[in-house]
Amino acid sequence: MITKRTPLDRLVVAVDGPAGAGKGAVCRWVALQYDFEYLDTGAIYRAVALLSLQHGGLADQPDRLATMAREMAFVFSPVDGRFVASLDGADVTLALRQETVSMEASRVAALGPVRSALLDFQRNYGGKKNILLDGRDIGTVVWPEAQRKIFLTASLEERAKRRALELQEKGETVSLPGLLAEMKLRDARDMARAHAPMVPADDAIIVDTTFMTLEESQHQVAALIAPLYQER
Ligand code: C5P
Repeated sequence: MITKRTPLDRLVVAVDGPAGAGKGAVCRWVALQYDFEYLDTGAIYRAVALLSLQHGGLADQPDRLATMAREMAFVFSPVDGRFVASLDGADVTLALRQETVSMEASRVAALGPVRSALLDFQRNYGGKKNILLDGRDIGTVVWPEAQRKIFLTASLEERAKRRALELQEKGETVSLPGLLAEMKLRDARDMARAHAPMVPADDAIIVDTTFMTLEESQHQVAALIAPLYQER
């Protein structure tokens, strides 16, 4: 249970929502604009998933996986306007985006011990700096006292199309129906799990990006964050 510590000594912005809603691209841009430390919390679950797969799949051993999650050296840092993820000293930025890793991430993310093991990392991130975190449970579990909570979403079809385009641009062959089915399964797992299910916080502002361009989504989220500076 997290004790509420208000007022916070720094700005904390929580952006939650399903895969493909644009969280990553929106948050990366907004973080650089406003000089926030940014953490893509999906990348931490993906890092644990990668460790799991490297050991032949450990989703049925939650405690062992939680120990590995606590001990892994994970660094997420901006390099030339991009964000680079490193796991135990190796650059895993590309490896983390593989679809096998996405599926394993939604399995390991359902495990209570794994989620608890990753909580301190997310709470301590950025030291005293202003932070922007994106994920599924930031506004509900990780930072319930965040000064701004945004739930970024879009229709399943639109999210699958965006992910297909992203993969095609990387030269990968994609099946849109396959991607749609995978995303639907991941959404269902994320929403139905007992520990920290994906749900908008009561005080979250819902932003539906189905009919927005990426630039429009970025500006909409930026407009929701700008007043925080005036309030301080
Ligand atoms: O956001 P991304 O698609 O990279 O996240 C990968 C998986 O990690 C999600 O499907 C979800 O199961 C899990 N996740 C989570 N809580 C977060 C971030 C991600 O459960 N805060």
